[in-house]
Amino acid sequence: MVELFYDVIVIGGGHAGCEAAAAAANMGAKTALVSFCLNSLALMSCNPAIGGVAKGNLVREIDALGGIMGFVADETGIHFRTLNASKGPAVHSPRCQSDYREYPRAMRRRLERIPALDLIEGEVAAVLLEAQCVAGVGLQDGTQLQGRTVILTSGTFLGGLLHFGLTTQAGGRIDDPASNRLSENLHELQMPLGRLKTGTPARLLKSSINFSKLEPQPGDEPPLPFSYHPEVQVQNKIQCYLTRTNERTRDAIMNNLDKSPLYTGKIVGVGPRYCPSIEDKYHRFPDKTAHHVFIEPMGVDDEWVYPNGISTSLPLEVQYEYIHTIPGLENAIIAKPGYAVEYDYADPQNLYPWLESKTVRNLFLAGQINGTTGYEEAAAQGLMAGINAVLKTRGEEPFILGREEAYIAVMIDDLVTKGTHEPYRLFTSSAEHRLLLRRDNADFRLMEHGYRLGLVPRAWQEEILAWKMQMAELHEQLAHRIITPTDSVREQFGELDLGEISHPTSLQQILRRTNMKVQFLDRFGLDTRHFHPRALEQVEIETKYQGYIEQQYRQIEEDRKADRRVIPDGFDYSQIRAMRNEAREKFQRVRPRTIGQAARIPGIFPADITVLWIHILKENKEKNTEAELEQEEAVPSS
Ligand code: FAD
Repeated sequence: MVELFYDVIVIGGGHAGCEAAAAAANMGAKTALVSFCLNSLALMSCNPAIGGVAKGNLVREIDALGGIMGFVADETGIHFRTLNASKGPAVHSPRCQSDYREYPRAMRRRLERIPALDLIEGEVAAVLLEAQCVAGVGLQDGTQLQGRTVILTSGTFLGGLLHFGLTTQAGGRIDDPASNRLSENLHELQMPLGRLKTGTPARLLKSSINFSKLEPQPGDEPPLPFSYHPEVQVQNKIQCYLTRTNERTRDAIMNNLDKSPLYTGKIVGVGPRYCPSIEDKYHRFPDKTAHHVFIEPMGVDDEWVYPNGISTSLPLEVQYEYIHTIPGLENAIIAKPGYAVEYDYADPQNLYPWLESKTVRNLFLAGQINGTTGYEEAAAQGLMAGINAVLKTRGEEPFILGREEAYIAVMIDDLVTKGTHEPYRLFTSSAEHRLLLRRDNADFRLMEHGYRLGLVPRAWQEEILAWKMQMAELHEQLAHRIITPTDSVREQFGELDLGEISHPTSLQQILRRTNMKVQFLDRFGLDTRHFHPRALEQVEIETKYQGYIEQQYRQIEEDRKADRRVIPDGFDYSQIRAMRNEAREKFQRVRPRTIGQAARIPGIFPADITVLWIHILKENKEKNTEAELEQEEAVPSS
């Protein structure tokens, strides 16, 4: 029998698995990706779109760290739009509609080009262990792959159960099998598992829709790519549309709630709060009759469209009934029914911040299995797990980002510190420093890390350093160039609608005015031609929001102090008699690595942190004194 040995084995070729495998193999580790079907790698189980609020920023961060989701999204994108474009830069969120069938093909082509990566079609039935440490995986056909690390990214497949009204069937998603053997194996390994659920709407035949009744939703002109180094010129190739539900839709749904597995107790898993089914929306808020339904084509020539906003687990005949009440969809034909899926997830509090299991050494978990929902959340975790699995094989320190550096860090820290009992999705408000975590500056924040890890070419990193130098120079010039209110200056102020100028003012202060832009600096004698547009853009944002940004940096310094206070490995909380029981239990369960992480655990009070820190200091002092005494004893007295 052929012995197959890998540094990293990835179970599952969804969004997390593809990103994990690409990162590990691109870092030079011999990697295998095992998935049920290689033609559905990174399949979009739900809406055919990448990005959106906070998720778009995640894709930019993945790209800046050397991941692949941004490239594939650009290559297969058919409609690009920045959400919240009229608001401040902190909440600008890129999103694209993707070609649903082309996305998995493009992903597979990209993975096949990576020399250190083997793609294997098959079902993983078990994670193999030796002394609570990963030794490889066993496939259903009897093949064994040996591996130093394993990354589990099984998405919605573990113990997957599909609900079509009151009918159920085993499955990871429609047309795909459930992963039941692996689920049993994880129970045997005593992984802490729970149940969650998510749902998806029916797919409709495009030819059965009356588009003349729908509101067009054009893409951005020009469309913006996700990748900082796009390989293709992105284009808007289709139009999306908007329609709305109404009272008749509500009645059709409310009259049939007794056929819903959600309200008859058949579904036990908790669903996504921020992406509820249409029956959930009406059940919770019956007075709100009109809900948006975005009609999103699933490809340029695809016969299917995705009606975004009406996910459901009601039976097919009820789906027909309520869909036909919606303007433009009166004669819609359902190509695939909507349904819900219930699946096992693993409590993320059982993970270290580098996504390694606390139960099984060298086992990493990423994606929906950690309780998240969304392709981007999954891909971002996959990337981090891939990187950390490789670092583990090399015996190097784990790669952990700070909450002030990336949304990726906010999500992982939330998961491992707070856990989750419902599908977790990221929002810009999840981050305390969202003004720093903009979609326009992910490369400035993260590319250096990507380069150091071997995932980003040197030239890209050098470009960032050059732009940073330009930014420093420009900030300097803006601060020191004083504009005197002469007649010609007043004239410029009038033309640009900048308000009054009564005394000498620095260009920096002028740039803070609402209508002032970097493009107008030359009107005040500052030649900006040799500055790169990216450097100019960053300086404009940093200048306009300087007060807020400085305030956020002060807060970060405070937080960093707490995050530098390390709690010793295996610290024994039971010895602190003065600690509240609830705090002790929570610390024991999460086993935080730092005082900062301990303070972020929900239900922990400042007084608990004080007690803990005093105890650690006392213990350290005693240890140091003991060490000094030992040293003294070791030195022969003269
Ligand atoms: P997945 O994309 O699920 O991929 C898992 C992969 O693992 C698959 O390729 C599978 O074949 C493979 N696999 C599993 N077990 C094994 C095994 N034992 N051996 C080999 N291969 C295995 N997200 C949203 O953001 N909003 C929504 O409204 C939403 N609705 C959804 C509705 C449905 C019905 C489904 C199924 C998903 C929905 N999602 C939604 C979730 C979204 O699809 C996931 O968040 C995302 O796909 C997770 O990526 P992942 O890589 O973790 O897992």
